Amino acid sequence: MKTLMDGRLIVKSGDITKEKADAIVNAANSTLLGGGGVDGAIHSAGGPSILEECRAIRKKVYPNGLPAGEAVATSAGELPARFVIHTVGPVWHGGNQNEPEILANAYQNSLRAAEEKGCATIAFPAISTGVYGFPRELAAKIVSRVLMEYFLSDGKISTVTLVFYGKSDYEIFLAHSDLE
Ligand code: ADP
Repeated sequence: MKTLMDGRLIVKSGDITKEKADAIVNAANSTLLGGGGVDGAIHSAGGPSILEECRAIRKKVYPNGLPAGEAVATSAGELPARFVIHTVGPVWHGGNQNEPEILANAYQNSLRAAEEKGCATIAFPAISTGVYGFPRELAAKIVSRVLMEYFLSDGKISTVTLVFYGKSDYEIFLAHSDLE
């Protein structure tokens, strides 16, 4: 585990479903109806109430699915967190289809959704770097820039935790993040 940005950023490896942050972020797909990877882990540890709320959001707000880069909040069921922020990262198509901007939007809109729920702490998985294929090194640069800007702009969230699933992803982030 490593603490950066005057204590406001914690970088660690582990399982995000165990995080006690006010909000944890789910790297969902646009259906919001569950999937594999971290999405599957969050729904299976959190229980069925999260999926019920996702279905209601689909029906009322996003009948065609949640667009990539957007974020919505639900409660967190049986998880130690209070809220789950569901966001959709970009699928990597080679880098010329706005993937970097969409990834930045996913992080920024998740921070905003957590602020709207009054959260002071939030934990993120490495959005898009699994099945969606976003290069981890480039993701590290984008995520560290977004968080640096967020902290400099005096965002309301006091502590952000980045949870990497495995030591090697954690190390790749630290090697490419530009943060101190
Ligand atoms: P995406 O479709 O956005 O790429 P994935 O769930 O496939 O989403 O992967 C996103 C990242 O989440 C990957 O780095 C993967 O290793 C990681 N991951 C998978 N399960 C967990 C978990 N329980 N806690 C934290 N990170 C996880």
